Amino acid sequence: MTAAAADGPANAAPMLEGGCLCGAVRYAAAAAPRHECFCHCESCRRASGAPFVAWFCVPRAALRFVRGAPARFRSSERAERGFCAACGTTLTFEEDGSQWIDLTAASLDQPALAPPRAHLFVRSRLPWVVPGDGLPEFATWPPRQERIRKARGTLQWAGDLESMRRDR
Ligand SMILES: [Zn+2]
Ligand SMILES: [Zn+2]
Repeated sequence: MTAAAADGPANAAPMLEGGCLCGAVRYAAAAAPRHECFCHCESCRRASGAPFVAWFCVPRAALRFVRGAPARFRSSERAERGFCAACGTTLTFEEDGSQWIDLTAASLDQPALAPPRAHLFVRSRLPWVVPGDGLPEFATWPPRQERIRKARGTLQWAGDLESMRRDR
């Protein structure tokens, strides 16, 4: 919960650093992680080759690639995924026009800085994935009024996810 507590001035934001398996791509983001989640959707599964992916968001403007840059693949009409062209590590997810970018939590040097807070797209969850971690589960996204509002650059969750609230 250390990173979640840094919900204060920008200068209190932690430095989130990470990169791919081979080291060709390295990133740094001076921002508190937001919208930390597990995604079980088929696109994430196929892109990563893993049964689900842990993600978090930072403002796109806060992210720098300090070494290399991810190769990009348009995985849907309105989003691109970034990965290391040398080793294949899944690194980013970006919706067109969003002020936010998703990064894979497991690519962090300290993944404990962005622990997932919900399971999304559980309608696509593999039958042999049985979380049992007590986190909220959503068929797709959380209900509309609670879900991330990427286009406006605000993150609005409620209920069990109140701790994720961030008005900007
Ligand atoms: Zn690499
Ligand atoms: Zn997904």
